[in-house]
Amino acid sequence: METEKLYYQDPFMGEFTATVLACEAGKTGFQVVLDRTAFYPEGGGQPADHGTLGGSNVTDVHEKDGVIFHTCDQAVEIGETVTGRIDWARRFDHMQQHSGEHIISGILCADYHCDNVGFHLGADTVTIDYNADISWDQALDAQRKANEVIWADQATEIAYPSPQELATLDYRSKKELTGKVRIVTFPEADCCACCGTHVLRAGQVGIIKVLSCQKFREGVRLEILCGKRALDYLCRTYDQARAIGQQLSVKPQDTLAAVERLEAELSAAKVRMAQLEEAVFESMARDNEGRGDVVLFQPPMKGDSVRKLADAVAKRCGGLAAVFAGEDGQYAYALVRADGTDIAPLVKDLNKALNGRGGGRGGFAQGSVQTDRAAIEVFFSK
Ligand SMILES: [Zn+2]
Repeated sequence: METEKLYYQDPFMGEFTATVLACEAGKTGFQVVLDRTAFYPEGGGQPADHGTLGGSNVTDVHEKDGVIFHTCDQAVEIGETVTGRIDWARRFDHMQQHSGEHIISGILCADYHCDNVGFHLGADTVTIDYNADISWDQALDAQRKANEVIWADQATEIAYPSPQELATLDYRSKKELTGKVRIVTFPEADCCACCGTHVLRAGQVGIIKVLSCQKFREGVRLEILCGKRALDYLCRTYDQARAIGQQLSVKPQDTLAAVERLEAELSAAKVRMAQLEEAVFESMARDNEGRGDVVLFQPPMKGDSVRKLADAVAKRCGGLAAVFAGEDGQYAYALVRADGTDIAPLVKDLNKALNGRGGGRGGFAQGSVQTDRAAIEVFFSK
């Protein structure tokens, strides 16, 4: 016997009573069948409801041949009347995401003559795939239209048209449908075959926000959030902008300009630092004029700077310039021989003796060692 589907009679029913028809132990829990239920089974991209049935937790719900199976963590007595309570926050969230998805899909599919070829309602993200190239600006235009439909707050229409009526109806559908077809209409936005639960009025979706629109297969994947999820997301994002604004002494909506100023200052500082570094390296190189082999220790520096200093010193010292930048335990090194003779045998010995890695060819090598300054000095004193 098919289960009576209370969620279709009243999608806002959060509590109901029913008679237990069957209860069988299964792999994931007890599979409970009722004469009627308000628990929505997974289907049409909408996840299953959770909640309680009597004293038992309902962790999954699925439908097979019209019969709805509730996965429960405890057994319930066959023949008993039980009260079912839907985890309403979860269900209402699913309805906001699902109805919002219909509204924006209806708008996009009409505007760009495409199909919705995928829908994923996840715990955190909601994605929709379309088989058309849709730009970010076009997605934002659809977002604006979808929100206008939401605020116009028209009633959702659910109908079961006859095959004759269906033949004349222009509706979206992922596949060829057989049997009784359920058509969900959001006036001015969408008409679509769907088995999910929906809000009663468009206004209950609250808000729709497009987060991203990226190339995916033959079209794009849109990431959206609706209702409370959208508000929560925008609040978290606002909190970030507000904190950044406080750091930079600007309003939350002016952080981009402030960050751009900061980036420009940083770039200018980097250029100035490179100039000063070059001058310092040149001065250090002059200090080592004609000294032959030279080993220099420096505080931690970028690999590029280590190499530049070794280059500058090698041009003046007339032998090997070895620069170690870092502190005991970890040094980055650069070795340069001005005459360009092969440095590979030296690097091999150095890495072996000083727990190092790295290499080079010709007169140049770069790498790092995990040792202390004393060990490095002993190595070069031999
Ligand atoms: Zn749907």
